[in-house]
Amino acid sequence: MQTLILTEPGRFDRIDTDEPGDPGPGDALIRIHRVGICGTDLHAFRGRQPFFEYPRILGHELGAEVLAVGTGVDGVQVGDQVAVEPYLDCGDCLPCRRGRPNCCESLQVLGVHTDGGMRERIIVPARKLHPSRTLELEQLALVETLGIGAHAVERARLEEGEAVLVVGAGPIGLATLQFAALAGARVHVLEPNETRRAFARDHFDVAGCHAPGDQTPPATCVFDATGNRAAMEAAFDLPAPSGRIVFVGFQPQRVSFANPDFHRRELTVMSSRNSTPAEFVRIIGLMESGQIDTTPWITHRADYDDIVETFPSWLEPETGVVKAMLELT
Ligand SMILES: [Zn+2]
Ligand SMILES: [Zn+2]
Repeated sequence: MQTLILTEPGRFDRIDTDEPGDPGPGDALIRIHRVGICGTDLHAFRGRQPFFEYPRILGHELGAEVLAVGTGVDGVQVGDQVAVEPYLDCGDCLPCRRGRPNCCESLQVLGVHTDGGMRERIIVPARKLHPSRTLELEQLALVETLGIGAHAVERARLEEGEAVLVVGAGPIGLATLQFAALAGARVHVLEPNETRRAFARDHFDVAGCHAPGDQTPPATCVFDATGNRAAMEAAFDLPAPSGRIVFVGFQPQRVSFANPDFHRRELTVMSSRNSTPAEFVRIIGLMESGQIDTTPWITHRADYDDIVETFPSWLEPETGVVKAMLELT
């Protein structure tokens, strides 16, 4: 079957791989139709993803169809269209037992730590599949991305009317602002890139967009969606006293802050990683009811035949990619 593999940084190959066979107990065989591309994939292609191993089949934002199920599967049936939750948890460690499988101690993310969905068919645990009768396959492929924002907002426990500042208006920032607005917050955005500011302003429910150096209104919750160390450190200056900071973006270095300022303002800092199975279900419901509108999201597309040639262009800022979608069939 057709498989796209990242052989080494900068090099995709189209290869033929063996069929995955029949699903075992609790598993499902799925056909991958849509694969969303995100910063993780772009960093892996560039060779700038820490701890990334090659060769690797990428693809963790997946819209798929169930082809067969193993014994003991009752959550999905053959023919269902599903979003795939790519976070393979052990089910047994402390965070898993506490209902926090998104930070499982031995978490394996499909397409990151283990081979993912840039291939025709794959076997996954059926409990990781979240069906919808009405959403399009490409909408289902967006659920994982939206989950990053939904989980961050869940972590923050926003209040109705609360003033929020989202730093960084890439896909993670946009997902965060979309769910913060849905929670009833007044959302301001801080983003250096004018094109990204305009995209957020034109397509989402924002109270204001600001460039670095602009006076931003006092916010009691600041979400950092930059994954940039300097921005993360600067974020400690942004919340009003008693506020909180949620680090949604990731970067591999230490982050430091001035303790007297932090202490005087009694700030809370937290991280947000991946999302939970319950959030997948909730997001699908919000998309089905139209409360989360995915119309603005997909800005670029490619298919199996032209992805190898097209993918590098998505690394260029001038391409203006928000979300690119690989269409397999
Ligand atoms: Zn992603
Ligand atoms: Zn675990």
